[in-house]
Amino acid sequence: MQHFKHALEELKAQDRLRRLPDLPQQGRYIVSDGLKLLNLSSNDYLGLAHDKALRHEFLNSEACRNLPWSSSSSRLLTGGFPIYQELEALLAARYQREAALLFNSGYHANVGILPALADKKTLILADKWVHASLIDGIRLSGADYLRYRHNDYAQLERLLEQRAADYRCVIIVTESLFSMDGDTADLPHLVRLKKRYGHVLLYVDEAHAVGAYGETGLGLAEMQDCVADIDILTGTFGKALASVGAFAVCSGLIKEYLTNHMRTLIFSTALPPVNMAWTHFVFRQLPGMKARRERLAGISRRLREAVAAHHPSPMPAAANSHIIPCVLGSNGAAVKQAQAWQKQGYYCLPIRPPTVPPGSARVRLSLTADISDDELDGFIQTLGIVDN
Ligand SMILES: *Cc1c(COP(=O)(O)O)cnc(C)c1O
Repeated sequence: MQHFKHALEELKAQDRLRRLPDLPQQGRYIVSDGLKLLNLSSNDYLGLAHDKALRHEFLNSEACRNLPWSSSSSRLLTGGFPIYQELEALLAARYQREAALLFNSGYHANVGILPALADKKTLILADKWVHASLIDGIRLSGADYLRYRHNDYAQLERLLEQRAADYRCVIIVTESLFSMDGDTADLPHLVRLKKRYGHVLLYVDEAHAVGAYGETGLGLAEMQDCVADIDILTGTFGKALASVGAFAVCSGLIKEYLTNHMRTLIFSTALPPVNMAWTHFVFRQLPGMKARRERLAGISRRLREAVAAHHPSPMPAAANSHIIPCVLGSNGAAVKQAQAWQKQGYYCLPIRPPTVPPGSARVRLSLTADISDDELDGFIQTLGIVDN
């Protein structure tokens, strides 16, 4: 078993060894080595995960008191508690789509949907930067696939022209908000491309956008006014929704097909009903959280402008969200910058290959709506003094 040890030593030598940290949290602060650090790496975009009033309201609700903490089974066997269908009905109604389907996590969704839908007569065309879970789903599907350059729709258009006719079905796969560059897809453009064909489906992962964008918090497809034209729109509950699990909205046909073919849905114990009730409780309130979304947008704009002013090259020009990358290049530089910020009281992390392309190691900042102006000002002050 020496090869395990050698492989780990090699990762360490490359500054790429991963560890599981022990990180107690106090609201939007993380406690690390006795220091309190402002969490600038959270996916709790609306600040709901630490909202005690919201939690207490739920804890006192009928649903919370009466629902079990385990489903004890897959939904297809005995785990089919009514709360699942209630949440699916709420999602379908909000997105104004025929159907919604719940999954245990975004990972389960992405690793299960493509293998269920795709076969040897399917071509998958995926953005080069889609999430690891989508890549795993593509690989597991066994379908032919090509990855187009990030957000390069001219290349995607050529691939469709050259290859689509050879397949029974083509699936375009993208995220709406990309988690490493903080930039976004042009969903209406993708809709126009797919509509030229009768057999092309569009699959959009809104993991980082659900809750945070759109008039009622449904995501970027709502903001870009094209929810109805996305064949499979997925989102997670573990990020802005402060819960756990994931969903897709789609046609009734696709839902029924997935229910019969999707292995990560069929062969896994459903999430606890009490968690579903919490998701339902939070999701129901999303339209009323506009002030939090506006706050997030406002502080994100301020931080992006400050980072761009202090580090003219390191931020990808297209970054336009609450995820703000400072690209530093080498692994060592990213690690050093993150450590420097941690010393100043800000919890942010280096992101290294293979999560991002070689030579583009970065510190990834992500904001949450409950960060105060003073806290943001304090961090912006460090942009000038912490340098490589
Ligand atoms: C976080 C994330 C997932 C995984 O979702 P989980 O619910 O955490 O498993 C999937 N896709 C994207 C784009 C993500 O960012």
